[in-house]
Amino acid sequence: MVELKQSEGGALQLGFAGDTFNTAYYARLEMPDSWAVDYYTCLGTDRMSDDMVAFMADNRIGVSSICRIAERQVGLYMIHLNNGERSFSYWRSNSAARLLAQDRARLRAAIDGADVILFSGITLAILEGDGADTLVEELGWARDAGKTVAFDPNIRPRLWRDQQEMLRVLEKGARAASMVMPSYDDETTYFGDASPEATIARYRDWGARDVILKNGEHGALIATAAGITPIAVEKVETVVDTTGAGDSFNGAFLARYALSGDAVEAAGRAARVAAAVIQHHGALVDPAVMPV
Ligand code: ADP
Repeated sequence: MVELKQSEGGALQLGFAGDTFNTAYYARLEMPDSWAVDYYTCLGTDRMSDDMVAFMADNRIGVSSICRIAERQVGLYMIHLNNGERSFSYWRSNSAARLLAQDRARLRAAIDGADVILFSGITLAILEGDGADTLVEELGWARDAGKTVAFDPNIRPRLWRDQQEMLRVLEKGARAASMVMPSYDDETTYFGDASPEATIARYRDWGARDVILKNGEHGALIATAAGITPIAVEKVETVVDTTGAGDSFNGAFLARYALSGDAVEAAGRAARVAAAVIQHHGALVDPAVMPV
């Protein structure tokens, strides 16, 4: 999405962000150049859409699969600042991304070109018509073909018609995934899980092989075939902006896990990346501030 942010002086700054895009950005930073990170979505054919594609390409994120729909535009949100408190306005009801699952053959081609695929509950929430069903079917195919299909439920009640529908479709998404990457805060609030272990057990019941549970200052729990391993973190005391914490964790984790196959090492790195991100403003922080 396009992001408009009010600076302290009142001027508007323009950027590009969004949960899955943030994840691609951090995966790219953790990957050697010989590995590709691509982003799949639909955009418009207008100037802003061109600028977004250029921004992705500048950040070495592949854009060759992206579809363009002339009648649509990119979604937009604005961050308002009131005495340091943030609030958001959204303009996304006519966004091109809502049609990203409309052309099944195109979607299949994008998925088929990848070994690891990440989608989120926000992706599922915004899709029009039977788009969520199509996406989930195609991702189920990818999982059955041996690809890693990672799902971050990223629960945003505002995006859904009602809570029952939200929980039903999130479960469907999870059932198509081989790896689920939830945040415990959201899971206990909306699914009523009594503990992080209960969240892990629920996603395993729904078919996930791996569950990578993020838990803020408490770190993370990594559940794989080898068992459940806690990832301790040093608490960041001076948090500047938590935007992108979970997304940066996901991106770094997926990149490192693909490279090393060691989930615990990957999660340790992901936690260090997320800790750096929350000490800076914005979802996409300068690569120079990433931990070495
Ligand atoms: P989300 O942004 O999805 O809500 P979390 O708040 O769980 O995700 O944060 C994601 C990760 O960021 C955590 O698993 C942890 O590694 C790191 N993190 C978040 N808050 C802190 C903190 N205060 N101190 C240290 N690490 C943190």
